[in-house]
Amino acid sequence: MQQERLRALGEMASGIAHDINNSLSPVMLYTGLLLEQKTNLGPDSRRHLETIQRAVSDVAETIARLKEFYRQREPQLTLASVQLNQLAEQVVALTRARWHDVPQQRGIVVQIKTALSPDLPAVLGAESEIREALINLVFNAVDAMPQGGTLTLRTKVSDKKVGVEIADTGTGMDEATRRRCLDPFFTTKGERGTGLGLAMVYGIAQRHNADLKIESELGKGTVIRLTFPAATSAIASPVTSSSKGPILPRLRLLVVDDDPLLLQALCDILEADGHVVVATNGGQAGIDAFQVALGRKEPFAVVITDLGMPYVDGRAVAGAVKAASPSTPVILLTGWGRRLGSKGDVPPHVDCVLSKPPKPVELREGLARCLAAPV
Ligand code: ADP
Ligand code: MG
Repeated sequence: MQQERLRALGEMASGIAHDINNSLSPVMLYTGLLLEQKTNLGPDSRRHLETIQRAVSDVAETIARLKEFYRQREPQLTLASVQLNQLAEQVVALTRARWHDVPQQRGIVVQIKTALSPDLPAVLGAESEIREALINLVFNAVDAMPQGGTLTLRTKVSDKKVGVEIADTGTGMDEATRRRCLDPFFTTKGERGTGLGLAMVYGIAQRHNADLKIESELGKGTVIRLTFPAATSAIASPVTSSSKGPILPRLRLLVVDDDPLLLQALCDILEADGHVVVATNGGQAGIDAFQVALGRKEPFAVVITDLGMPYVDGRAVAGAVKAASPSTPVILLTGWGRRLGSKGDVPPHVDCVLSKPPKPVELREGLARCLAAPV
């Protein structure tokens, strides 16, 4: 019975994941476009857009992990070199509403301080996971200070280990709570709590070979510290958002999607890159447009199609395109999780799978890959 429940839950989760990935796509595409194109943005606007971009990427990562949780597989960590000092600053910015805006509406002041050790070595990890852990710790710290107080994010280095800690001057935990606080579903917050925050932090610590330490004193406050082994060798840091990816010649592109917002976002990005784009709503319209263009001897260089569409889906579009013109590359956009593409299970007639929400640079890389490889 439990297996059956998990299966049903998994199906529901994957449906929700699909919808969320779809809805995030225009956000991802337009923030990418604005950051790339608007060179006259003020520093504040740029910082806000970068925060939006990071937050959206994190949601996509969370969704990808949710899927893996229900598939009951170990999440694969993509390790990169992570700067905890940078991450701490980001977390302060990302959680501002929770420690500043919300308490202040009730006249409560939560002071936030950072004490970041200079020249902190990088650690090896999955940036979005560590960020999520820190965000959870900040939320817990704020919850523990209903009358206000001080929240400190501190980084430290000692003996080839790099630590990041979150300290609050809140209620603290009694011994029984401290012993159970990592348990999944353990919460002292009643309906408001899920009891999953610290369980998740613990899981993330384990996957990173990090040590999780909790010091708490009732009435005084709590310090929670994550200690990572310092990264030894230099590992390529993740691609920065400033890199725009490959530069492509002007292309005639057919874009097929049943979601008007996403269709518009894709067109705007591709047209901003100088391409000529024909957008069609739905699979059959896409196939029709493809054949008309072929008949007119104005073929498309590449077809970009959504996977899940009513009546005629992306696989059918890809099949029809290849039947009419075997050499035309097809890119499939899918909301079914970040990692479908990396597994190598590319459907027939498809040259490249891109996950939603796509970044502009990923679109360009996909196009470049298709055009480079002989079909
Ligand atoms: P939730 O926040 O949903 O309750 P968590 O797993 O994040 O779930 O935390 C579990 C419990 O641990 C909390 O309900 C709280 O009792 C205790 N706790 C966690 N962080 C702190 C903290 N900084 N100060 C005091 N108690 C805490
Ligand atoms: Mg919590």
